[in-house]
Amino acid sequence: MLTYHFYPPDLSGQGISLFAFFILMFLVSSMPMVVNNTPIFLIQWVVFLTFGLLAEIIMVQVGVLVLLIRLKVQKDQMFRLPLNSLLFFTVSLFSGLAYFAMGGKTGIDLIAEPQYFWVAAAYPVIHFTLNQILISVIQAALYGRRVSFLEKDLIWETVTSLITFPIGLILYILYAEVGILALLIVGVPFVSLSIILHLYYSSEKVIDYLQKASEISHKMAEHLDVNEVMELFILKLSEMVPVDYAYILDIKDNGELHSLYRKEHELIKPNDLIPTNKNEGISGLVLATRKSVLFHSKKKWKNIAKEFLPEDAESIICVPIVRSNEILGILLLSSTKKSAYEKSQLMIVDILCSHFAIAIENARHYEETKAKSERCALTKLFNYRYIEEKLNEEFSRLQNGSRHLLSLIILDIDHFKKVNDTYGHQSGNEILCELADRLINLIDTAGIAARYGGEEFIVLMPDTSKEDAIGWAELIRQIIANRPFILKQTIDGRSCSTKVYITASIGVAAAPEDADDSLALIRHADRALYVGAKQAGRNKVAEYVK
Ligand code: GH3
Ligand code: MG
Ligand code: MG
Repeated sequence: MLTYHFYPPDLSGQGISLFAFFILMFLVSSMPMVVNNTPIFLIQWVVFLTFGLLAEIIMVQVGVLVLLIRLKVQKDQMFRLPLNSLLFFTVSLFSGLAYFAMGGKTGIDLIAEPQYFWVAAAYPVIHFTLNQILISVIQAALYGRRVSFLEKDLIWETVTSLITFPIGLILYILYAEVGILALLIVGVPFVSLSIILHLYYSSEKVIDYLQKASEISHKMAEHLDVNEVMELFILKLSEMVPVDYAYILDIKDNGELHSLYRKEHELIKPNDLIPTNKNEGISGLVLATRKSVLFHSKKKWKNIAKEFLPEDAESIICVPIVRSNEILGILLLSSTKKSAYEKSQLMIVDILCSHFAIAIENARHYEETKAKSERCALTKLFNYRYIEEKLNEEFSRLQNGSRHLLSLIILDIDHFKKVNDTYGHQSGNEILCELADRLINLIDTAGIAARYGGEEFIVLMPDTSKEDAIGWAELIRQIIANRPFILKQTIDGRSCSTKVYITASIGVAAAPEDADDSLALIRHADRALYVGAKQAGRNKVAEYVK
């Protein structure tokens, strides 16, 4: 009202033209391609110079409204409507007032009155600067986000605004000369230019994404631990796209999808979700169709979903993790915001998933190879190499004082050759496996059991005194000697089971009392075994004595 009072619009028979400007404003702001509102800005500038402040204010408000409706602002973001209105109103008003204060007036003829040129040129600069300052203040206050003035978007906006200045000038002058036709002459190529610039800007963004994607794939390739790879993958994804919920699902042999990784609001959760079947839920659908899906809101997926998704999940990206044409798993990302993901982001996530698949396969392969190299293939116990490494580690701990006691038990099956001769080598193997199982069950976490050689086993017991170790050795002797080993054999086509009784001789040594290094500890335990147990009649436990 005040604006109307002080700066009445200069319509003077140009009502139809003003109407045309409104229509154009409406069209431009409802066009999804146009970025950074640059065309709106161009039009409002001309409207301001021609028709005055009030016309400009109203036009901008219409533009803002149309723009926000087009962007499908959600209910919880509705405060943006009055906020944006107020923001643009403030910017319009103050830059208008500044223009008049500098001596500018509505409806100037730039050719007849060239002295007004600088005031007219200053107006958009003030408008743009004021707009940027207010936006950063609001962002800082509302979202606690500090906006760097060198941010890419800001540079981009400044550049596009600079391009519009001369075009706006031409439009203004041309409008004064040829009227509404000027809009067609300048407006059409200008809008085309904005569309091209927008496309360029989007492709720049995609290139940026791709660059990041390649960095991520390199980083993932450096990790050889499956969990670390998953953690890194989700972390890096969250830096590129909004992620409130992230799930990596594993496909079991029966086709069920089991959670392998689950992160909800920055927290890693246990993988105890109820498994879903192929064709069931969003992830099941992706598994069955082998195609990625993108949902903008809960409305779109709530009839399909059968899985785990939290109440406030809205946007969803779900992508198959494919390696050599085989689906290894499913990735599901979700945001609590509607329309949080763009198609281009889905594409990037898709690409990253294939890199992820390679990284996971490498890590799994590495873990398998490592496990194989540490274990004996027959009994699945740790092997000689592993136990020697552990022994060296334990001795360094003894030396640096982080460990005080270390005991070693070594056992050798008595007359095992005879067992082999009587029942066959295969039956001998079965006995070795059964013995390994008994050892593992008994020792559990009290020590590390390993197969040291043919029918010799070692138990390494950190933080265990020699006395306690002798107690454990006695238990080991008993679980071998007191219970027969059952052999399942087929004789003449009939299956029958044979009971075999075996015994073992055991030697015990401890550090630091018996040995200063790992080799000496083994040697001394071995010596106790032969001298104190085997030579003393077998089926005995003996300790090392100097
Ligand atoms: P003792 O130790 O009581 O002196 O008698 P032994 O018969 O156990 O003696 P020795 O150490 O000479 O023989 C070990 C035998 O264990 C030789 C080999 O046939 C058998 N053996 C070693 N490794 C394996 C294996 O992996 N599988 C089977 N079935 N037998 C094995
Ligand atoms: Mg032996
Ligand atoms: Mg033996």
